Amino acid sequence: MTIETEPCPSCMRDMAIPPGYIDEIVAAKRKTGVDLAKDGVYEGRLESCRACDMCVGGIMCSMCGCFIQFRALGRDAYCPHPSGDNWKAGASPDQPGGEA
Ligand code: SF4
Repeated sequence: MTIETEPCPSCMRDMAIPPGYIDEIVAAKRKTGVDLAKDGVYEGRLESCRACDMCVGGIMCSMCGCFIQFRALGRDAYCPHPSGDNWKAGASPDQPGGEA
């Protein structure tokens, strides 16, 4: 079976990300039972990231170098944007880092 790949925005020449790879890692992390961001908070953070001027290729935060799907997953994670936390406006106030 051939796996089609997409280039990684931080290293276009040599690395590729198989389709679904990041989603599989996120799903596996959720199955561990670790206390992560709730689904609504997570989706709100991703929405903010995808609209952010620091987001590269719709998947990577250029401030921290993380895939946004991983950055947004942490329950206590925060947005490192130099102008202020972009996640706070759309996040739930019931989690740290999600204050309105
Ligand atoms: S600076 Fe914040 S909103 Fe922008 S991509 Fe990074 S984590 Fe997401």
